[in-house]
Amino acid sequence: MDSIIKHLVEITGHRDHDLLNISVISALRELTQAKQARVLDMLAVGSHMYVKPRISFENDKLVVADEYLANSNNGELISEYPHLQEGIAQHLDLIEARGSDGQRIIWLPIWMNDTVNTCLEIVNPASYSKNTREVMKGILIVYRNFQNLLDYSERDSLTGLLNRKTFDDNFSKILRANVPHYVSPDVEQDSPERRSDDAEKQHWLAVLDIDHFKRVNDQFGHLYGDEVLILIANLMRSSFRPSDKLFRFGGEEFVILLRSTTMEDAQHIFDRFRENVAQYNFPQVGTVTVSIGFAHINPFEPAVGIMGRADQALYFAKSNGRNRTCYYESLVNSGDLKVEHSNDSVEFF
Ligand code: GH3
Ligand code: MG
Ligand code: MG
Repeated sequence: MDSIIKHLVEITGHRDHDLLNISVISALRELTQAKQARVLDMLAVGSHMYVKPRISFENDKLVVADEYLANSNNGELISEYPHLQEGIAQHLDLIEARGSDGQRIIWLPIWMNDTVNTCLEIVNPASYSKNTREVMKGILIVYRNFQNLLDYSERDSLTGLLNRKTFDDNFSKILRANVPHYVSPDVEQDSPERRSDDAEKQHWLAVLDIDHFKRVNDQFGHLYGDEVLILIANLMRSSFRPSDKLFRFGGEEFVILLRSTTMEDAQHIFDRFRENVAQYNFPQVGTVTVSIGFAHINPFEPAVGIMGRADQALYFAKSNGRNRTCYYESLVNSGDLKVEHSNDSVEFF
């Protein structure tokens, strides 16, 4: 009992999803004396579901996948895990199966409003006692409630996108993940060969602002304005990958962190989104357009500098017709924008 309480204290002491995941999987592993334990991300991409390990314990070694560098790969199709697939179709809280090597596998899907984004996996040679199962279920409920609470504090209540406060935390994480020599001292990172594969893929930051949004409110009222915000957030969710991060920054301004993509692809992806919004028929309101400014993320620079460049590109889009996507670095190359000088040194990119 002491040990369970110790774990609950540990689990509820975190304000970060990764640390929470590590502590819950450690707790389950210790309580079940599991040989292997994993936290799996369940990614819905189109109509397919993929299973991708986020955290694994193998032979006492903790491995945290570096999602920022590995996001070009979705993981395995859930059909590779037929028992898990069937259990999820039946909406089960606990799914048990026997692996080909005779090991007992337990999957604990984390249900949040009828969807599963995370699933815990425990593997043991022996079967689990009734008491152990009950303890597992109890820990799971605490974990789920706590995830919900964390989610609530990280998201904007109107659109469900991440809020501005969360931006800072995620931003610094991306910067750390993008620096090749940064390895957290107590956590082993994913295989080094993947890093070189992704070497030319970069991260991008876009600032997006709705054009003439004041007119929408003035002409149709605030409720229709709010609906436009919700619909644009929905379009964002369906246009970007789960590994990209979407924020409502306040009012009618949004920020997108696009990860592991070449410059040409980033330009294409942002502009395709702008086009999707322009083509969308907003109920009652009709056509709404957005302007987008984006900049390359230099991992050695504070967020404020990167935001500043994306903002300048946005300002340029606004003053040159709106409904445009502008890339800071190319505006500088073409002479449309002047490079800002700071501390007497020229900014290179
Ligand atoms: P521009 O193309 O230059 O961006 O013009 P704009 O009218 O969009 O820009 P401005 O910043 O002048 O106006 C933004 C408006 O967004 C002001 C405010 O009425 C509206 N707004 C901000 N937050 C909300 C919100 O949460 N809901 C609604 N309905 N409107 C909001
Ligand atoms: Mg604005
Ligand atoms: Mg605006």
